[in-house]
Amino acid sequence: MNSRYKTVLLFGSPGSGKGTQGKILGTIPNFFHCACGDVFRNLTIDSELGGIFIDYSSRGQLVPDEPTVRLWRETIKSAQQSHRFHPERDTLVLDGIPRNPEQARILAETLDVRALINLACPDMQKMVERLQRRALRENRLDDANLDIIKQRLATYERETRPVLEHYGSSLVHTVDSTQSPVDVLRNILDILAKAL
Ligand code: ADP
Repeated sequence: MNSRYKTVLLFGSPGSGKGTQGKILGTIPNFFHCACGDVFRNLTIDSELGGIFIDYSSRGQLVPDEPTVRLWRETIKSAQQSHRFHPERDTLVLDGIPRNPEQARILAETLDVRALINLACPDMQKMVERLQRRALRENRLDDANLDIIKQRLATYERETRPVLEHYGSSLVHTVDSTQSPVDVLRNILDILAKAL
């Protein structure tokens, strides 16, 4: 059996800044960033899974676990085959997966999770504003409507937050994501310097 991927999880509600930080970390040598939402958005809308993604994400809900994990595995395998991801030397930075405890259980045989960075944003209004700005910038359907945003925040509280308990307090490092991106990054790098 292949050994498991050395992994850091970026965790937090929609709008907490996972993607921003993940992209930066992905530019550091020996880190490979994979955002599950980006993997979905790269599907063509007329593919079967692309249609499923639009259906669920436009209602603020999670895509079912089986196709999500299957797509994610294919994506990682193809990154390996095309020599963009080198598991023997790279740390995998995951953002947006696992997104519920069941996905965490399924991925336990694949991921060696060294740290979970919990980007905590206690100011709900601030997150909603970030999402609405992003809707304009990135043309994201699921950010465009306040009802869908509220639905996604509720989905996070109900289905995603329990992932924190799955990994337990020894792996969870909480960072205040209301700070500026550079201060959030500084906190994350301090954590990674100790955890990896
Ligand atoms: P956000 O920044 O709002 O958390 P993402 O880009 O990570 O957004 O995800 C957008 C949407 O893609 C989610 O609302 C969900 O419908 C779907 N999605 C992304 N990752 C997963 C996952 N691991 N499991 C199920 N659905 C997912």
